[in-house]
Amino acid sequence: MAATILQGKEVAASIRAELAEEVNELKKQGLTPGLTVVLVGDDPASHSYVRGKEKGCAEVGIRSEIILKDAATTEAELVGIIEELNQNPNVHGILVQLPLPAHISETAIIEAIHPSKDVDGFHPISVGNMVIGNKTLLPCTPHGVIELIKRTGTEIAGKHAVVIGRSNIVGKPVALLLQQENATVTMCHSRTQNLQEFTQKADILVVATGKPHMIGKEHVKPGAVVIDVGVNRIESGKLVGDVKFDEVQEVASYLTPVPGGVGPMTITMLLKNTVLAAKAQAGL
Ligand code: NDP
Repeated sequence: MAATILQGKEVAASIRAELAEEVNELKKQGLTPGLTVVLVGDDPASHSYVRGKEKGCAEVGIRSEIILKDAATTEAELVGIIEELNQNPNVHGILVQLPLPAHISETAIIEAIHPSKDVDGFHPISVGNMVIGNKTLLPCTPHGVIELIKRTGTEIAGKHAVVIGRSNIVGKPVALLLQQENATVTMCHSRTQNLQEFTQKADILVVATGKPHMIGKEHVKPGAVVIDVGVNRIESGKLVGDVKFDEVQEVASYLTPVPGGVGPMTITMLLKNTVLAAKAQAGL
């Protein structure tokens, strides 16, 4: 039976509608959640992501501000901007769009953001809190992946989840969050031997490799939930995932499309984090 297509756009729209109501209520209490995005340089993809974030904020009523700096901005200047934002009570979330120009250390910039305003969830304190299971701002893409799986109605507890990819921003946190949802988790990466042996046993398969179409139906257990995080632009200019959509949809029970799957969830989780950060900073 063909898989149900998990339309991230639709799930994201329903979460955004809930957030818009919540923001409306907060405004009545005198609290307008605010997000500041800092963008350094002129990478077209980064500009497009930032526009998406600005649009998302407007949709749910979050006040947003974009600070644009040219590629020659120094690390010290950028740290100075972040320190001012850390002190600004109207700014509840700070996001520095990555990647940064090579002369700026991403680690130094992430660590400059106050953890209470770390809406990307990349600060070592946020990551540490996530690892030990404390309440914290979760990284947006992994959080979006978990929300999508939950919306299928699939019980995660007790399932075998296989995550392909172990990056700090996707693979590792996805695996950790699945484990916290009581899945039994296997992590695979580029040095994994006989990948198919692992993936064929997965009830939930999350693919985050950045390798277009590397997962075919031979990798997938019939009835598995398959989440394709990959976003790859191929020669024709088309955006494709890491999963061969047409053939995997023949065997999976649920499958995310690319685009329109995980992507819309990422921005939505950023909006959610901004609201959570605003409430926490206001003591609500
Ligand atoms: P990275 O390049 O940082 O990590 C890729 C991971 O995949 C690595 O752990 C690597 O293993 C593993 N890998 C690569 N090739 C193979 C292979 N042949 N077999 C098994 N594992 C492999 O990428 P990211 O985690 O940052 O992103 C992954 C994808 O997700 C990209 O396409 C990216 O564009 C997309 N993405 C999408 C987002 C969204 O909002 N939709 C947000 C963030 C990312 P090793 O560690 O051994 O090198």
